[in-house]
Amino acid sequence: MRLPQFTYHSPDTLEGVLALLDEHRDNAGVLAGGTDLLVRMKHRLAGPKVLVSLKHLDSLSYIKEMSGMLCIGAKTPIIDVIRSDRVKQQAPALVQACERIGAVSIQHYRGTIGGNILQDNRCIHYNQSQLHRSGRQPCHKDGGKICYARDEADRCNSTCQSDGATALMAMDAHLVLNSTRGEHRVALDGFYTTDGIHPFDMQPDELLTKIDIPVVPGAVSAYQRLSYRSAIDYPIVCAGIRLVPDQKDAGCIGSARIVVGAMSRSPLFLAKVSQSLAGVRFDDNTAFDRAGKDAMNAAATFAAHNAGADLAFRQAMVEKMVGRALEQAAAQVSMKIAR
Ligand SMILES: Cc1cc2nc3c(=O)[nH]c(=O)nc-3n(C[C@H](O)[C@H](O)[C@H](O)COP(=O)(O)OP(=O)(O)OC[C@H]3O[C@@H](n4cnc5c(N)ncnc54)[C@H](O)[C@@H]3O)c2cc1C
Ligand code: SF4
Repeated sequence: MRLPQFTYHSPDTLEGVLALLDEHRDNAGVLAGGTDLLVRMKHRLAGPKVLVSLKHLDSLSYIKEMSGMLCIGAKTPIIDVIRSDRVKQQAPALVQACERIGAVSIQHYRGTIGGNILQDNRCIHYNQSQLHRSGRQPCHKDGGKICYARDEADRCNSTCQSDGATALMAMDAHLVLNSTRGEHRVALDGFYTTDGIHPFDMQPDELLTKIDIPVVPGAVSAYQRLSYRSAIDYPIVCAGIRLVPDQKDAGCIGSARIVVGAMSRSPLFLAKVSQSLAGVRFDDNTAFDRAGKDAMNAAATFAAHNAGADLAFRQAMVEKMVGRALEQAAAQVSMKIAR
């Protein structure tokens, strides 16, 4: 499959990248590792006329701790996140999520953490070859007025299948976006739109430059995911969890963040279910089972038939993924107390 024609730029300064995005806006595409974008271009699912490569922008590739934040540059390769002792210590769920991304070749050679968060939403009815799509009426995302994934849907419900975004949302991550107009910060759980065609609340001239993860004393995190194959496959359900011990009683949960991924247009931060765990003891598996069930019911309303597995099965698996991630996170607390 051939790529469509485009003009290629590879500036070596942030200012150079931002100036090109400002000049070309909707016609421009940012090229990080290209493992998502180039595949979509080959299938004619994306067609930027101008590719702005981050190849020479090494200043966006770093992992460091600053002002109570674990900061990760947007162009940091997935493999650097996996190998970082700092991330293992402060954000284990992110390492677990990155270890599960696609294929070792994506993790090692090309894929970046920024590209992982900003990969386009997916749908089995849409992420197909041009030939396949040409044989049927176009859906909303292809310029038509119907949806194959949800009866009578007035919009696209393509699914966010990013492993990284689910884990990062559980850890309350914030994104830093830059443009020639300046810089702004946005919480990852407030970054998504309600439209799977343009899933991110982001302007075409903006570049994701940094991901900030708050370092919370005593916090533990875990990530679980289900996919058909262990490699070269996207998640069909996943869950990221962060638990923070109570300040007065370290045996109890002070606050929790439960996020369910691959079930909706964005990872779902389940605020009510998360709040229900405040005050629960870390060894209370009954409460974790109940939270798993509640998470399943909460996530069910958002899902569409578009991630390659029976919807009822995916919904049922939410309970399992959340339950397992909670137990895994809680076990880290017991280990810390035992040390
Ligand atoms: C076979 C296969 C399996 C995969 N499996 C998984 C999986 O299991 N889990 C998973 O999460 N992903 C998976 N992916 C998706 C993807 O490869 C990875 O998420 C990867 O991390 C994307 O990073 P990238 O740097 O290659 O992104 P790119 O393809 O370069 O970019 C992705 C999108 O983000 C935009 N972008 C990238 N960086 C920036 C930035 N700094 N600012 C603004 N926009 C930006 C690009 O314009 C593009 O639209 C898979 C892909 C393939 C081909
Ligand atoms: S969810 Fe519906 S509109 Fe969106 S890509 Fe799938 S079939 Fe198309």
